[in-house]
Amino acid sequence: MGEEKSSRPRINLIKAHIDAIGAALRRMTKPPMTLMFPDYEEAWPEGYRGFILYDYDTCIGCSLCAQICPARAIKMYRVPGDKKMRPGYNVGRCIFCGLCVDICPVDALSYSYVHDEVYSEVKPMNMDPIDWTLWSKRIKEKEKSAKPKLKPVIDEDVGLRYEVVKSVEGEK
Ligand code: SF4
Ligand code: SF4
Repeated sequence: MGEEKSSRPRINLIKAHIDAIGAALRRMTKPPMTLMFPDYEEAWPEGYRGFILYDYDTCIGCSLCAQICPARAIKMYRVPGDKKMRPGYNVGRCIFCGLCVDICPVDALSYSYVHDEVYSEVKPMNMDPIDWTLWSKRIKEKEKSAKPKLKPVIDEDVGLRYEVVKSVEGEK
């Protein structure tokens, strides 16, 4: 009786392993559920809020963006040779709420679709107005990069899978 009781958990364990191997084998015949980043990118929906981009030439230095930012990710700087103060951006503090974009009276701020940058140090994340301008140009270039875009779709058979919504030239 006692021996029968103690062998039950072991039988359950073996059954669970067999079930898991069966599930893995069944899954091998289906399309992949993962996005092969960075070779492919997700096609973000319109209005997606990624990094905030700054246009120095359009900015009038009103400081409204710095005043409204709830995360104190924007602060005003003096720039040599410029009478107006200009905003700088700490991307490490930004919570992508978009208030700065909404309040800017001259559309000097905009959203990008890019949200994936890797930093090995904290300092480069905190940009003065000049750094923010150059960084914004680089992010815009990155946005244009020709990579196939995929979007996730719910599939009743396999669960989640990705579908190509825009392929690059020369790729099927
Ligand atoms: S998106 Fe929000 S948190 Fe980020 S800089 Fe603008 S106001 Fe600040
Ligand atoms: S709200 Fe717009 S115009 Fe005013 S300082 Fe910020 S970026 Fe420049």
